Amino acid sequence: MPTRSLPVAPWTPAFVANTVAATLRHAAERGLPPAVKEVANECGVSRATIDEWVARARAVPAAPVPPGLTACHFCANRMILVHLPGGPQVYLCMPACGRAPVPAQALRDAVAQAVLHRAPHLVPPGKTEFASAYAPGALHRVAVGADHTDLHLTWRSHPRQLVGPRMSMAQRLSYTRARADHGDHARAIQVLHTGLLLTDPTDDIGALDLATALAAALLAELTVVHADPSTALPWAGWAHRSLRGLLGTTSPETDSALRVLAIAHRRTGNLTEAANCYSELIRHHSKAEGRRALPTLAAQATLALVLYQDGHCVQARQLLGRTAADHQAAHPGHRDGPRLRQELARMRASCTDQRHGHPAGIDDPQHDSATASPMGAQHHDSSHQLRLQANLTRR
Ligand SMILES: [Zn+2]
Ligand SMILES: [Zn+2]
Repeated sequence: MPTRSLPVAPWTPAFVANTVAATLRHAAERGLPPAVKEVANECGVSRATIDEWVARARAVPAAPVPPGLTACHFCANRMILVHLPGGPQVYLCMPACGRAPVPAQALRDAVAQAVLHRAPHLVPPGKTEFASAYAPGALHRVAVGADHTDLHLTWRSHPRQLVGPRMSMAQRLSYTRARADHGDHARAIQVLHTGLLLTDPTDDIGALDLATALAAALLAELTVVHADPSTALPWAGWAHRSLRGLLGTTSPETDSALRVLAIAHRRTGNLTEAANCYSELIRHHSKAEGRRALPTLAAQATLALVLYQDGHCVQARQLLGRTAADHQAAHPGHRDGPRLRQELARMRASCTDQRHGHPAGIDDPQHDSATASPMGAQHHDSSHQLRLQANLTRR
């Protein structure tokens, strides 16, 4: 029986799903906060409300079914959790294709049952209640047909044991940092993999939030050093693209990811790409900290090693000769000075061994380094970076 009063909130699950879809589409191009603002203006919904809808669609802790796992069998779009005040929690595709929403608890129970039936070993003892959270370890995708009894399941050929699947990305990041600090790199890598399981690092679209981007950066860093550089490479690239989008080109976090990307390129034999990354790092450090600051000189020294490795011996020796001289002038007595000179001597000896016949003195720096930058001496902390980078490059 229709009444004369208008409903207070004329929002439907389809409206919410379409609004979230529009927000995420814009966010992929220009970041989440501007996207929320733009869609809020377009739809006449407050930013706080859209923030809430997007957060619910993407939230991991307490999600009935992990975000990103379910898709609509009819339109193939991802399904998200929608919860309007006074209504039940439902899943609906975004954008909505006109299908009926699926009750969230029923879907959760059906997914949990499927996992417990086919892959019970992936659900740790005592976690049966949260079996659906472990579903991404067993399943690639859950396509939802007419209702929760009509699921089209794509099982993983290589099931994954998930660790802490209900942690938020921020919790995961601080947990894995602590594990890594304690030397438990394998555990940290495993926990990060769980959080990024449904992320495709070859995707052009970067992370929408900082915690995810930093988690990818940490995964790349730990993997390149303690596991497999070729596995680290796509994560390093994605983390760097994501952080560049979220924080800008020259933020310390972006540069740190760029350094990891450089190392991953070098270790996988992509020496031209590695050299490009180090050149970019040198530009950023020069601008931010000075031409003779330790991070700048460290990146320069590493670039010289990469160039030498890539067969550009003259260029490498000239760069390292200049770097060693600048280092000596700006940081006399610093413990890395002798190491730079040793590397240069090694290059010279190697050229001699291979009878390159270079003219004498090609790597003697010209008199262009008479004035030491006062910036360099201020960065005592940077010696740590120089050491770290040297260790990484020597592995
Ligand atoms: Zn659909
Ligand atoms: Zn040579």
